[in-house]
Amino acid sequence: MEKTLVLIKPDAFGKKHSGDILKIYEDAGFRIVAAKVMKMTKEIAAKHYVEHIGRPYYESLVEFMTSAPLMALVLSGENVIKRVREINGATNPANAAEGTIRKLYAEDGSKNAVHASDSPESSAREIPIFFSETEMFEG
Ligand code: ADP
Ligand code: MG
Repeated sequence: MEKTLVLIKPDAFGKKHSGDILKIYEDAGFRIVAAKVMKMTKEIAAKHYVEHIGRPYYESLVEFMTSAPLMALVLSGENVIKRVREINGATNPANAAEGTIRKLYAEDGSKNAVHASDSPESSAREIPIFFSETEMFEG
């Protein structure tokens, strides 16, 4: 079954929206196959956001993502990568559709509540940054 990496970012986690966000994913039919609360280090941030190194927002993004705990998840299901991106909504909540997680919970285009892998290649690259095989159910 297809898998995707989701992060409930420090803004949404700190505001105790994790339960609501997990319910949205589970109600959409997806299965949580890995989950943990953790602090993202600068080293993890540099690996996870490698494509963004050098962009004008990179330093503030890392500052935000390492500032407080987050919840890392692996979700599985049919077409989960594309569908979770749709459920999350546009990067900037000002452009996010009604009912999406970012429309509901994001503060702005940086503190935007959730991350999700954007392709099978990203998912395969990102999941092992956060989880080992023994931390994941359903293979
Ligand atoms: P997405 O998370 O929707 O895949 P990107 O991959 O483009 O978006 O960017 C990764 C993250 O970097 C965003 O979720 C957001 O937190 C931050 N970010 C992206 N673009 C900007 C920007 N112009 N200003 C501030 N933060 C940004
Ligand atoms: Mg992205």
